[in-house]
This record gives sequence, C-alpha cells and structure tokens, in this order.
Amino acid sequence: MPEVERHKYDVVVIGAGGAGLRAVIEAREHGLSVAVVCKSLFGKAHTVMAEGGCAAAMGNANEKDNWQTHFKDTMRGGKFLNNWRMAELHAQEAPDRVWELETYGALFDRTKDGRISQRNFGGHTYPRLAHVGDRTGLEIIRTMQQKIVSLQQEDFAQTGDYEARIKIFAECTITELLKDGDKIAGAFGYWRESGRFILFETPAVVIATGGVGKSYKVTSNSWEYTGDGHALALRAGASLINMEFLQFHPTGMVWPPSVKGILVTEGVRGDGGVLKNSDGKRFMFDYIPPVFKGQYAESIEEADQWLKDNDSARRTPDLLPRDEVARAINEEVKAGRGTPHGGVYLDIASRLPADQIVKRLPSMHHQFKELADVDITKEPMEVGPTCHYVMGGIEVDPDTQAATVPGLFAAGECAGGLHGSNRLGGNSLSDLLVFGRRAGLGAASYVEQLPGRPKVSDTDLAAAAKAAVTPFDPPQEGIGENPYTLHMELQQVMNDLVGIIRKEHELKQAIEKLAELRDRYDHVTVEGHRQFNPGWHLALDMRNMLLISECVAQGALLRTESRGGHTRDDHPGMDPVWRNKLLVCTVDPDDVGFSVPSVTVTPEAQVPMREDLLRLFDLAELEKYYTSADLAALRGTEP
Ligand code: FAD
Repeated sequence: MPEVERHKYDVVVIGAGGAGLRAVIEAREHGLSVAVVCKSLFGKAHTVMAEGGCAAAMGNANEKDNWQTHFKDTMRGGKFLNNWRMAELHAQEAPDRVWELETYGALFDRTKDGRISQRNFGGHTYPRLAHVGDRTGLEIIRTMQQKIVSLQQEDFAQTGDYEARIKIFAECTITELLKDGDKIAGAFGYWRESGRFILFETPAVVIATGGVGKSYKVTSNSWEYTGDGHALALRAGASLINMEFLQFHPTGMVWPPSVKGILVTEGVRGDGGVLKNSDGKRFMFDYIPPVFKGQYAESIEEADQWLKDNDSARRTPDLLPRDEVARAINEEVKAGRGTPHGGVYLDIASRLPADQIVKRLPSMHHQFKELADVDITKEPMEVGPTCHYVMGGIEVDPDTQAATVPGLFAAGECAGGLHGSNRLGGNSLSDLLVFGRRAGLGAASYVEQLPGRPKVSDTDLAAAAKAAVTPFDPPQEGIGENPYTLHMELQQVMNDLVGIIRKEHELKQAIEKLAELRDRYDHVTVEGHRQFNPGWHLALDMRNMLLISECVAQGALLRTESRGGHTRDDHPGMDPVWRNKLLVCTVDPDDVGFSVPSVTVTPEAQVPMREDLLRLFDLAELEKYYTSADLAALRGTEP
C-alpha cells in the first residue's frame, strides 16, 4: 500500500464554506479538536461568491417581519415539501446567527438609523436580506476566518500551539469515508498538489461540501462542485432526499459563451431591476401562477409603488420565487421573444441613477464591464436560467444534523430538507449559519457521549487507496476512456435531458445514457503520476458526478408532477398526493468499489407538520397544496 499521512481529530469537517466554518467554530467552542479540509484554497468556496444577502427576520426594514412570516415564506417557496422543523429552526435562529457574526467582527450595510439594512428578495414578504453591498458572502467568510484565527490565538496562549484545536488542510480532497462496523471511523483523501494520500482518524465527520452544479453544462457553480459530499454520504450508507429538485437561477449571463451561466444576483431585481422581453414588455405580470394569485402586483404602477413603500401595494412579480421566474424566461425565449443570445433583458439602467447602481451592485457592474463589455448603468443585461443550487441532499435529523450513519453529520447546501422543492434566495446563507452551528454541536455531543473510538481497518484503508489509483491502471487495450470526454458528455446529457423542463421519454433516455457512461467510467484512464494531475482529479470527481446525476434523473422520472425546481412537461400541475412524499436515494454498500453503484429510490412519507405551525396558515391557502383527505383530517371530518 502507498504511504499515507495520518492525523487524529475529534471532528473532521469536510468543506470550508459558511456551513463548514460555522461547524468548526461550534465544535471547537465545545473544546474538541477539529480538522477542516477543503478541496480548493481556504476561503475559496461558493459562500464567498454569494452576493445578495442572508435572510433573517430581524424586522429592521419593516417591523412587521417576524420568524413566523419567514417560516411561512420558506414553506411557500418550497411548495410545502420542506422539512417543517428545519424551516422553523431556521426562521427562529437566523436573526441571532446574523447578530453573532457582528460579534465576530462582520459589518453589514446599515439603515439610516444605524440598524442592519435589509433588502428585498424573491418570495420574501418583507425586505429581509442582511447584506454587504453585493459581496455578502465575502464578509461572512472573512469574519468566520477571523473568528477561527482568534480561537487559534486562544489555543496558542493555552498550549503554545496555534493548531492545537483547529487545523486547516487546504487543497486536500476527501474521496472516501471509512467506518468501523456501522460507525464513522475516518476520512481518506489526497493532497491536490503532491497527490499524496492522507487519512483522518475521527469518530465524527461533518460534510459541508456544497453543491452538484458541475454535472450541468450551464451553471453558476465553480469547478469544485461535483457532488462529493452527497456521494461520500451515499457510499457510506446514508440516504439522500429530494435529489430531483435543482434550482435553475433565472438570471445567469448568456453572453459571451465563455461566461455563460455566471450568476447575476437577484439583488438586481431586489433593488428595482425588471425583466423585459425583446418587445420591451415587462412579461412577469403574465406568469403569476394560481398558488400566488392575489399576493403579487398585477400592474406596473402597483409594482413600482411597492418598490417605494412595500406596505401600500403588492410586490412585483419580477420577484416571484426563482422556479417561477426561470420557467417564465424559458417560455418567453421559446415563444421567440428572447434576446439575440437566447435570454431576456434585465434592466436596472432605466430604474436607478448610475451612481446608485455602482454603489449597490459594484460586483455586477464590474462583472458585466469586464466579461461582456456591457455598462449596466447604461444598457440592459442579457440573462437566462443557469443551474445554481441543489435542494436535495443528505437526509439529516433537523435538530442535530445527524445523517443516518452514526458519526456522520451534514450541513449547508449538501444537506436536504430545509428548502423543500425550491429555495428562496438568501435562505442559503442563513441555512449555513443556523445548521452549520447545529451540526458542530451535534458532532460535539456525539463525540462526548461515545464510549470508545472507532478504528479504521487496514483493509478499508487499502481499498480506499486502491480505488483512488484505479484510473492509472491501464484498461484493456482500446477502451481507455478520457475523463474530460466523459465529463462533457455527462454535462450535455444533464443539460438536455434532465434540465429545467423534463419529459418522461427524455428522462428514460438520460437514464440509459447515464448507465452507458457508468459502464464507460470503469475504463477511465489517466496518464502521468499523482503529482498535480487535474485529469486524475476529474476522474475521481466523475465517480461522484455520475452517482449523483443518477439520483437526480431517477427521482425526476419517478415524481410525476411539477413542483418547485422539478418541472415535468408531461405532468404540468402540482399534485397534492406528492406533497408529503420524499424520494429517498440509497445504494447497496456491498456494491461499492471503484465502479459507480446503482441507486435505489424509494418514496417515504414526510412527518406531518406540527399543529401550531399549521395554524399559521389560512385553510384557504393550504387547499392549494393539500389533498382533500389531508384537509378533512385537518378539519377533523371525514373526506
Ligand atoms: P460551499 O460554500 O459551497 O463550500 C463547500 C466547501 O466544500 C468548499 O470549501 C469546497 O472546497 C469543499 N469541498 C467540496 N468537495 C470536497 C471534497 N471532496 N473534499 C474536501 N473539500 C471539499 N445564497 C444566498 O443565500 N444568498 C446569496 O446571495 C447567494 N449568492 C450566490 C451567488 C453565487 C455565484 C453562487 C454560486 C451561490 C450563491 N448562493 C447564495 C448560494 C450559496 O452561496 C451556497 O449555497 C452556499 O454558499 C453553500 O455553502 P456551503 O457552506 O454549503 O458550501
């Protein structure tokens, strides 16, 4: 077996985005030793790219806001498929988590009277997103890194070693979780630069690896987002839920081709930007779906009045939840009313003075000038849907974030449940803070009550190392597969057949193609050696992308309705029968080698919502989502 560098920690956190760092802080505050491992540079995660803000019902911009309204907005956004307990904890705890960041040194933008400023975003009843211009994620990561440094300084004062309790392993990729019986015992990976292997012996792992977008051709996601955490958990015996729900953000750049998919923040619309088709029409008024009828402005005058004073009018349909806006854009383009490059126009130039645009949206101004030679203070942007966020993820206990494997926890984008079928913008940054903290706490409590340390066996370690080097083994002559070709083909299949609008025959075709790609993956071949070898890295990432794409496609085929981030052309309506059904993905642990195992998808009933939370909604609203039998049970009568 090749040489393996070994480390021992109480908790290992995989991922250094917002969820991972918040988990690290919490576990360390409980006195445990924590390793944080990240595939890219420390500080370079999707969290740092988050622009618009962090949703928290602080009531600063409108004092009517409260956690109950945030809870209801989140449930509506997710079309009632959300894990309601997570939605409750999230809405209740987000304001404290934002305040806490200021105690770590964050500085959010302010209202005139000095409170944390909050901006409008899609699906939120009141202005609710705490923000720092359009660079909110950067401030969140900067602050949590600063908090970690301050904790390391405390550790140095106590022990003479800055890294006594928190150590960062950057540019280090985890490829396998190892168990002792049914319990987590370690995590195995490699250093990107040297290719050398590394083993973390630990009783508790928090997965905080973010999203899966790199399986799609047009995406806002960067290279690391290959569904590693989702796949690690599956292969270790945990389950995933809601994988059919992917969020296609309505506004990605569409031009030039080299930057297609890069995100244009919803903050543009939050600050007054409007969507227009090639006839110059504000088309979103034509796309208010029945479930939101009555809640959104029905004329331009009303929408513009709302922007000035959101108590005196209904909100603009430009800020409907993302799934609705993405579908509307898709329809306009299909109907021939798109822009020259296949998007629609997003106009802020005619809505705000140039100096305000530059002040409020500095990154967007810079991004369009640099990448597309467009001055957004003078011209509209061209935008279209881009694969952005995965609602599905590791099935966790809502209070502790424990997965179904003892010792395994998950938080942030890679965990499933909170957002149901569609996430509201701004609810991810708050998710990271609330559930990152809870995962750190959950892991710490688990470790503290564990009678003994699980052990990594030499056999499992050797198997993990062997799987990692398999792409170097020459395949049978003539059938060596190039990982780059496989990746391009996978992205095309997912884009074309499992994209924003889905159909049964296309999903079946996708599943066949995925099976073919899985077979070909067994022959994936890379050249050279382990020292910085991006082809090898991609070959290992492909193993995860193929597995996760299978979960998405299988779930999408089974769910014969349209809800949130899953739209079936052949089943266009939302079917109340599906409202309380989760699709749970598992793999057979005995089927796990280097090959991509096949996935089993099983429907599972949601736990019914607690009565006091249900009572927050009008029965008339629940009628849009619940079956008549559910409603009869609520009313205490027979159907
Ligand atoms: P991430 O921040 O994505 O971090 C994942 C970490 O896991 C990284 O450190 C990565 O290197 C590491 N990792 C992955 N795989 C491995 C592996 N195998 N081994 C070791 N490490 C690994 N949300 C909002 O709420 N508001 C916004 O305004 C907003 N704007 C956004 C703008 C953009 C451009 C994008 C892409 C997303 C935006 N989002 C926004 C979504 C939000 O940023 C993400 O959902 C969120 O940051 C995910 O955080 P996380 O902590 O779960 O993971």
